[in-house]
Amino acid sequence: MAIRNIVKKGDEILNKRCKEVKEINSRVLELLDDMKETMYESGNGVGLAAPQVGILKRIVIIDVGDGLMELINPVIIESEGEQIEVEGCLSVPGVYGKVKRPQRVVVEYLNRDGEKVQAEGTELKAICICHELDHLDGVLFDEKVIEFVECESE
Ligand code: ZN
Repeated sequence: MAIRNIVKKGDEILNKRCKEVKEINSRVLELLDDMKETMYESGNGVGLAAPQVGILKRIVIIDVGDGLMELINPVIIESEGEQIEVEGCLSVPGVYGKVKRPQRVVVEYLNRDGEKVQAEGTELKAICICHELDHLDGVLFDEKVIEFVECESE
């Protein structure tokens, strides 16, 4: 495993649409492992999308404190309610702001074994799923902020 560099806002790769994963091969598995190490090493990330390490593939990892999720070709198939919470992003350092997201989502994806599975996310996990999936379409959270906030703990 290796820690990869996190791409920062300003790099156009973050504004591109990612491609579907056609085959879960050793390169994809290595990318998942590297993304996991990179996210945990960052110390404050609850999610990471492949374009954030410079790879335009539809792959996302999430850990909101209840275990690692690895999502390949994820699609939100259900969405309900709304919540407004402060978000940040490893690719947009020092910027925090309130974003409106669904309160609950169901996401369908392939796991690392290539099985199609579904997961439900509410509250922080729903936010995280939406935030990371936006990355796969080249959308950064600060484009959706309705109010920027100051954050003392940097
Ligand atoms: Zn992000």
